[in-house]
Order: sequence, then structure tokens, then C-alpha cells
Amino acid sequence: MNPNITLSLVIPVYNEAVVLTPFWQELAPILNALTLRYEVLFVDDGSQDDTWSRIRQLAAQHAEIRGVRFTRNFGKEAAILAGLEQAQGQAVVVMDGDGQHPPSLLPEMLDAWWQGYPLVVACKKERPNDSLFARVSARLFAALMHRLSGLDLVNSADYRLLDRKVVSALLACPEKIRFFRGMTTWTGVQSYPIAFSVPARLAGESHWSKLGLVKMALYALVSYSAKPLYYLFGSGIAGLLVSVLLGLQALYSWLAGIAVSGWTSLTLVILIFGSANLLGLGLLGIYVGQLFEEIKARPSYLIRETTNGIV
Ligand code: UDP
Ligand code: MG
Repeated sequence: MNPNITLSLVIPVYNEAVVLTPFWQELAPILNALTLRYEVLFVDDGSQDDTWSRIRQLAAQHAEIRGVRFTRNFGKEAAILAGLEQAQGQAVVVMDGDGQHPPSLLPEMLDAWWQGYPLVVACKKERPNDSLFARVSARLFAALMHRLSGLDLVNSADYRLLDRKVVSALLACPEKIRFFRGMTTWTGVQSYPIAFSVPARLAGESHWSKLGLVKMALYALVSYSAKPLYYLFGSGIAGLLVSVLLGLQALYSWLAGIAVSGWTSLTLVILIFGSANLLGLGLLGIYVGQLFEEIKARPSYLIRETTNGIV
């Protein structure tokens, strides 16, 4: 940490070459009006377009700007982690680099921090640009997450201000599969919410595919809650009770000499219990897969170069 720097901005970017200049034009006047020492850290998550050369240009023109470039695309969570590790400021703001996290919120976020809040979270109030699918799935995910892990992530975004204490707490967590939003809420520190309506991207397109979002949601759910495993155990017990009843009925039919061919019921039982078994195995598989990833303990990202020189 550098006590002279009050604010660090961590901005993960992936293929945002067309957005960077307009984004910086929106951000710079707001930062300069704050009259404090700041640094802006762009983390290039392995972009294939001109993003890195734009970051280098900006860093050459402005001493406050630094850039880190990954060897390949490691994902936004890895980029946020790298930013948090490199940030020097007493407060760190994580925000998207596409203009969807309005920089105009920064003064209010800092005010809340100065009042003593260690965490300031920007919450999505309106999402006029989101599709129906995106809105419904976000709600469903937040509801499931709340039920399974107790974390309230309704309308949450990755746009957050973290006090240095919170940054240190996050960096002390050794887990490899990371979920920034969940982890900051998990710390349990007092947070100050600020509502904002999500503007359209300045340019370009979202990088999330539907499948990618489902995968992310599954990872987050599984890494924050073991409850699905207990539910699985519970449904196993319920299945056992049903089997006892069915077994008694079968025995009775046999003893009473009224046992019929029973093809339909047999087929149904096999189908239902067979698929329940597979589902359970699949769920276990997801947890085992996560354990496997964690236990390998590979670095979350590899750095190719920085604006200060090759690493
Ligand atoms: N991003 C990233 N790595 C990725 C995907 C996205 O660093 O693999 C960055 C992206 O450049 C942007 C932010 O994460 O600054 C949010 O991404 P995007 O706008 O695609 O997501 P959405 O706003 O649709 O949730
Ligand atoms: Mg976006």
C-alpha cells in the first residue's frame, strides 16, 4: 500500500479497444474534480484486439494510469483479483470499463467511505438494457443464492468501493474459484448501498454467453453453499421411505397371491430412481470438480507484461 494514494480504480477489460478512450474521457474529469491522489489500473484480460496498445497509450499520457496484461483470457474474476493485488490506494473501487458502471457515482461512494463505511456497493435499480432472460435469470440466481448461502445479492453489481481492510481480507482468502460480489458481502462489514440505473454500453457488446452465465452461477452457488449436498441426502431419505412402502406393497401382493405383471409401476420406479441417482451423482461431481480445481492451486492468472515493463 502507498499511503499517498487515496483511491485506486481497478478496471478489468477484455476486448474493449473501442470503449477505452470514450470511457477515459468520461472518467477523467470526475477523478480530477475529486482533488485527491488516485491511480487507475487497467487489467487487460488477454484481449485479442487493440485494448493493450490503447492502455499503453493512455499510460504514456497520464502518470496515474497503469496497466497489467494477462497472457490469455483468465476471466473477469481473475482480472479483479490481479487488480486488487496491485492496487496501492487506501480505498479501491472495482468497476467495469464499458461505461455501464457510471463514474458519476464515484463522489457519492467516496463520501460514504469518508463517513466510515468500509464497503460501498452500487446496486442496479433499473436495467432497461437487459433482456427479459437476463432479468429473470438474475432474479432466480439471487433468490437461490440467498436461500442456499444466506448472502443477499439482489440487484448487486461488481461496482464496489472497498476500504483497504476489506481488500486485505479478500486477499487473505486462498480460494482459487472466486466470486467477487459474494466474497465482499461475505466479509459481513457494514456496507452502504447506492442505487443506479445501468446505462447502455458506450460501445461493443457484452462478453457473457448464456452458457457462461449459467456456469458462473453454478460455480458461485456451489462455492458458497454445501446445502445442495444436504438436500441430496434429504431426498435420499425420502426415496428410502417410498421404497419401504413400495416394498411392503409388493410383499403383500405376493403373499396375497395377487401379484400382477406390474410393468408400468416397475418402469416408473426404475426411471425415477435411476434419474434421481444420476442427478445426485452429477451434483456430487460438481463439488468434486471444484475441489479438484482448488486442490491443484494453480495461479489464477499469469502476467505477460505491465506498462512499467515486462514481468
Ligand atoms: N471482462 C473481463 N474478462 C472477461 C469478460 C469481461 O475482464 O472474460 C470485463 C469487460 O471488459 C467489462 C466487464 O468485465 O469491463 C464486464 O463485462 P461485460 O460488459 O461483457 O458484462 P455485462 O456488463 O454484460 O455483465
Ligand atoms: Mg457491461
